[in-house]
Amino acid sequence: MGVVARGRMVEGDLSVEWAFTDRHDGVSLGPYSSLNVGGKVDDDPIAVARNRAIAASYVGADSLARVHQVHGRDVVRLERVLDDPPPADAAITSTLGLALAVQVADCVPLLVADLPGAQVAVVHAGWRGVAAGVVGAALDALAASGPVRAWIGPAICPGCYEVSEEVRDEVAAAVPEAAATTRQGTPAIDVRAGVMAQLAAWGVVGELIGGCTFESPDLYSFRRDQVTGRQAGAIVMRRDHG
Ligand SMILES: [Zn+2]
Repeated sequence: MGVVARGRMVEGDLSVEWAFTDRHDGVSLGPYSSLNVGGKVDDDPIAVARNRAIAASYVGADSLARVHQVHGRDVVRLERVLDDPPPADAAITSTLGLALAVQVADCVPLLVADLPGAQVAVVHAGWRGVAAGVVGAALDALAASGPVRAWIGPAICPGCYEVSEEVRDEVAAAVPEAAATTRQGTPAIDVRAGVMAQLAAWGVVGELIGGCTFESPDLYSFRRDQVTGRQAGAIVMRRDHG
C-alpha cells in the first residue's frame, strides 16, 4: 500500500495524475509510522523529507509544492517548491510538472484539475475552512474556463466527528449540508458533504475517494490519536510530448 487511491486522466496532450496516500510504506516510526508527510508534528525531519519524496513518486514527481496550512481561506499560486511555504489553505499552479499537495489527518484533502485552463489546485478543508469558504475561494481564484474535475479524499465521517452545538451552527450557517449528527445523536459536522455542496455551487461534481480516517487503521486521524502523522493528497499536470 502507500496509496488509498491514485489515478491518471488524459485530455488532448495534457495529463493529470493524482493520489491520496495512506500511512503505509514510509520510514517514520512510532506514532508517525510510517508515511507521515506532516512537518509540524514533531516527527524526524529527515524521515518526513523521505516520506514526501515517496508520496511525490505516487504521482510521478520528485517533490511536492505545499502551503503552510492555517485553517483559513487564502489561496496562493505556486510556481516552484518553496522551502518556507506561504500561509494558505489552497494552492494553484499552471506550472506543468509541478506537483501540489495538502497534508491532512481528518480534514478534507481536495484535488482539482482544470484541464481546459491547464492548471491544478489543492485545498485543505476542515470545518473552519468550510465555514470560511476556502473551496469557493479556490475555485474563484482558479477562474476555470471549462469543466473542472475534483477528487475529495478520506476525512473523518460525521458519525465519528462530534463537535459542540456552537461549531455545528457556525458551519451550518455557511453550508447547511455540513450539519450532521454522530452515531450517538450528538452534534456533528459532515465536512466532506460541506465540500461537495460548495463544489456543487460552482457546478462541480466532486468524486468521493476512500472512507473515514477515524475508523481506518490505514489512515492518520488526529481526533483518534492526537499525536500522529499526516497523509497527503497530491496532483500534477503534464504536457505529453509523445
Ligand atoms: Zn467515521
